[in-house]
Amino acid sequence: MSAAGSAAAPILALEGVRKAYNVGTPVEVEVLHGIDLTLAKGEFAALIGPSGSGKSTLLNSIGLLERPTSGRILIAGRDIAALDEAELTALRGRTIGFVFQFHHLLPAFTALENVMMPMVIDRGRPASAMQERAASLLEQVGLAAALHKKPAQLSGGMQQRVAIARSLAMSPPLVLADEPTGNLDTRSADEVFALMQRFNAEQGIAFLIVTHDPRLAERCPRRITLVDGRVVDSLA
Ligand code: ADP
Ligand code: MG
Repeated sequence: MSAAGSAAAPILALEGVRKAYNVGTPVEVEVLHGIDLTLAKGEFAALIGPSGSGKSTLLNSIGLLERPTSGRILIAGRDIAALDEAELTALRGRTIGFVFQFHHLLPAFTALENVMMPMVIDRGRPASAMQERAASLLEQVGLAAALHKKPAQLSGGMQQRVAIARSLAMSPPLVLADEPTGNLDTRSADEVFALMQRFNAEQGIAFLIVTHDPRLAERCPRRITLVDGRVVDSLA
């Protein structure tokens, strides 16, 4: 980590982030209009707002899946604009975990193999260590009995718990979750949410969770509200 990635830096800082699509064409549209936002290490925040307000665009920009059109994004104190492709890939892999509404598990692979996948891509540890860590994470999400099951053999809630285990494989300090419970019944949603709360409380992992569920948003110590591409409210 560079000197800029100091211990005191917030895990996430956005300064005037704008994002436009189809730039330079007749259908150019600016979706994020200058977002300023800071997330401290170990924070647990909901990102809420109407459909189309830019929540996914914001999350994908933070998650380095999209480049902002202008403005600065600092992850753990590091300005991502200063990073080359290889550094971005490393930062994406090791610093940020992702959970999506649809689990995006690989159907041909077992739960264990799916959770190992980020470590396989990183190539930083021997196979036995990857297996051990993946099994331990699956135990922590209550799926010790499902290590060798494929996604299709699991319920929606279980699939999403595998996705959470996978997001934590590289021990990221920040997890971004885009409507992680949007596809689940109330009880499974509560279980998945409680797991994220537990990893936050026990391991200090920061979470930024897009949710449409007011019950879950209320349980977050902080709610950030996005309307038409602007943060209108960021209550702690
Ligand atoms: P939310 O997640 O809050 O529902 P999104 O970030 O998905 O909102 O979308 C915000 C706006 O940006 C919407 O009007 C959407 O149509 C538009 N948008 C999203 N992705 C693209 C894209 N790739 N090209 C053009 N417009 C897009
Ligand atoms: Mg969305």
